Amino acid sequence: MPQKRSLPTVLDLSKSELEALVVGTGEAPSRTGQLWRALYHERRASFDGMTFLSLRCREALKRRYVISPLDPVQCLASKDGSTDKAVFRLPDGELIETVLMRYEPDGHRKVRRTVCVSTQAGCALGCTFCATGQQGFRRQLSVGEIVSQVMFMERLAGTDEEAQMADGTQTRSERQSVTNVVFMGMGEPLANYDNTLSSIRTLTDDQGLHIGARHITVSTVGLVPPILKLADEDQPINLAVSLHAPDNVTRSETMPVNRQYPIERLIEACKTYIAKTRRRIFFEYVLLHGQNDHVHQAEALGRLLTGTLCHVNLIPVNPTVDGPYRRSARECGSAFQAKLREYRVPSTVRTEKGIDINAGCGQLRARAVAVDAEVL
Ligand code: SF4
Repeated sequence: MPQKRSLPTVLDLSKSELEALVVGTGEAPSRTGQLWRALYHERRASFDGMTFLSLRCREALKRRYVISPLDPVQCLASKDGSTDKAVFRLPDGELIETVLMRYEPDGHRKVRRTVCVSTQAGCALGCTFCATGQQGFRRQLSVGEIVSQVMFMERLAGTDEEAQMADGTQTRSERQSVTNVVFMGMGEPLANYDNTLSSIRTLTDDQGLHIGARHITVSTVGLVPPILKLADEDQPINLAVSLHAPDNVTRSETMPVNRQYPIERLIEACKTYIAKTRRRIFFEYVLLHGQNDHVHQAEALGRLLTGTLCHVNLIPVNPTVDGPYRRSARECGSAFQAKLREYRVPSTVRTEKGIDINAGCGQLRARAVAVDAEVL
């Protein structure tokens, strides 16, 4: 019903806001916990079956809220089955995308299922190598719109689990759905700071989705004030910073934000973040052929980051259809990495998965894969 679609999502409410709503309909405050669990733990899709709430309360919820604000308009699966991408229409017609990536166990790591979420419809920052950046900013996503993306992918990942349990390749005790979340989809998460942080609190809530903070990564283009603010939050999440060049001239060519927050200020903020949180930072470096992949630039990057608690992810660019950039040769990535090694800066050259369904943000999946591969 069209009228219904314009209602906000109940997932936008904090626990205390939910309690005020529940108590306002005459329920005991203790019902809030049950409602919270029904929404986030049991992933109920409708208020109707929540019979632990009075009819009055359920009707009040239905009149004022929907549960999921997402209308999936396209779901694509990669040929190798490792990656799914969903495009969602939001109640006001804006489109966003979300990606689910599956990883088989390797070495010391268990099965992982990582969701890459969007935090804004469009993006104002205009990085020249990014398809989303070329669309411009539309609006901020709400807390519920961010969390719902993970919950949708939970259901998708859950169907894998049922299949694995049925064929005996996974037992109930090994059962897990989404294990990691990376804030690397459309938009700049730190430009939607409050909603990003609130959604992290919901994702990590042990009565809800219960995803460990250490399995959550927030990526930023390098906004200095929110990086410093994040350093004071009590959230042991991972921070990834898109660097993509070791000098201001080169960086400003592809990342207009560098004119506002040049490299010196950005690195200083990163060092403050590391000193306060004692956590390493992931620096993302998309290799653009002929632009930032020369050995002398690797040397400059080594000088810039030597002695810093960090890890560099070197990511061969995924060229967009109309974009001006070409992928660097494999040898180029190896030479770049070897130079960083001379400066004792740890790095990894990444390859991406699910490239055949990458129809949206040019770098979305590549960046997400690169950082996630380093996060346990
Ligand atoms: S790379 Fe990220 S910050 Fe840059 S334009 Fe794309 S979405 Fe925005």
